[in-house]
Amino acid sequence: MPMVKIFLKSRISHRIERGHPWIFGNEIERIEGEPAGGEIVDVFFHNRKFAGRGYINPKSQIAVRLLTWDKSEQINHEFFFRRIRDAWQYRIKIGFKNSFRLVFGEADFLPALVIDKFEGYFVLQTLSLGMDKWKETIVAVLNDLFRPLGIYERNDVPVRELEGLTQVKGFLSEPFDTRIRIEENGLQFLVDVENGQKTGYFLDQQENRKEIRHIVKGAEVLGAFSYTGSFEVQAAHFGAKNVLGFDISPLAVEMANQNAALNGMEASCRFEQANAFDILKKFTRDKSSFDVVMLDPPAFTKSRENIENAVRGYKEINLRGIKLVKPGGFLVTSSCTNLVSPELFLSTIDSAAHDAKRKLRQVVFRTQSPDHPIMSNLENTNYLKFLIAEIL
Ligand code: SAH
Repeated sequence: MPMVKIFLKSRISHRIERGHPWIFGNEIERIEGEPAGGEIVDVFFHNRKFAGRGYINPKSQIAVRLLTWDKSEQINHEFFFRRIRDAWQYRIKIGFKNSFRLVFGEADFLPALVIDKFEGYFVLQTLSLGMDKWKETIVAVLNDLFRPLGIYERNDVPVRELEGLTQVKGFLSEPFDTRIRIEENGLQFLVDVENGQKTGYFLDQQENRKEIRHIVKGAEVLGAFSYTGSFEVQAAHFGAKNVLGFDISPLAVEMANQNAALNGMEASCRFEQANAFDILKKFTRDKSSFDVVMLDPPAFTKSRENIENAVRGYKEINLRGIKLVKPGGFLVTSSCTNLVSPELFLSTIDSAAHDAKRKLRQVVFRTQSPDHPIMSNLENTNYLKFLIAEIL
């Protein structure tokens, strides 16, 4: 049983009552005991009723993250085994097979833990001190449950510094060739779990990539922010006449061209290194146009203070993108930050269309794949916006 007891103030946010796992420092009235960073603690409401059990980090703004609301549940190997097994069974139940996000942090009741499964390989991130302490246990559980071909840690993430952790990456298993081949929608993609972005591949757009299948038939397609080419190679596969993809990262461009070749699409699908803002401007200057323009930019902001900058960024690239779409063609556009709400995203695109003197007809509006579940009481789990619109 945890030694340290945390008592909350009498007026606490509705958030905690609704089962949100985060407790901020200013919501705590009193701490009984002297907790070490990362230690498991019990949390009580002001009336001494049990609120939950979790880990503490006095150095972090998020002082406690709850792991369980069940007083009898201990935090140990079996706990992680049950949580990870349940997360796996849930993915299987909703139709995932070989490659998917196995654990999506808070939405799987494992705050600050991310695990992606790429065929027989696993990539993990422990993004808080309290979760980092359980890294060996988590690896042992993965070994028990999956007998993995390999496990890699991508903890080279700045957010760890807010927790007093350093950035690290490396093997948590015997070393292996870190370029893994996965299958998506019947196509092959290389995932570089060591040098790729985030965990190596954006699984969250898996289902959205299928949504382009009708609109790209016979089309000339432009893809900006193409990373390793997953949207673009699929566009070529679904029958696009030709596809041009651009990314600022030379490594991404190299892998994208490899992915096109891997699927026999190198004749119709080509990638070059360029800044998307410049290349969109250049195409406008050259009076080029496309049947389909696809944009999948990075988050543009990580903090609430910079939302306006992010919105400006989205507006600018979408305005430029819309101008390049032939009448009756399509814009495929995404935003991956929870700081920009679906409403704000749609109104930003709408305002870009207005400025471009074009009309926009919504074809598809979706969020991320369900292996990144949205929980109604955790607002930042609803983060991805994916829009296909006809541009008239
Ligand atoms: N569409 C991709 C994911 C894109 S992630 C997929 O489905 O896998 C965002 C990408 O934008 C990253 O690859 C990053 O290298 C790239 N990027 C960031 N800023 C850029 C810029 N100014 N111009 C072009 N690419 C940029």
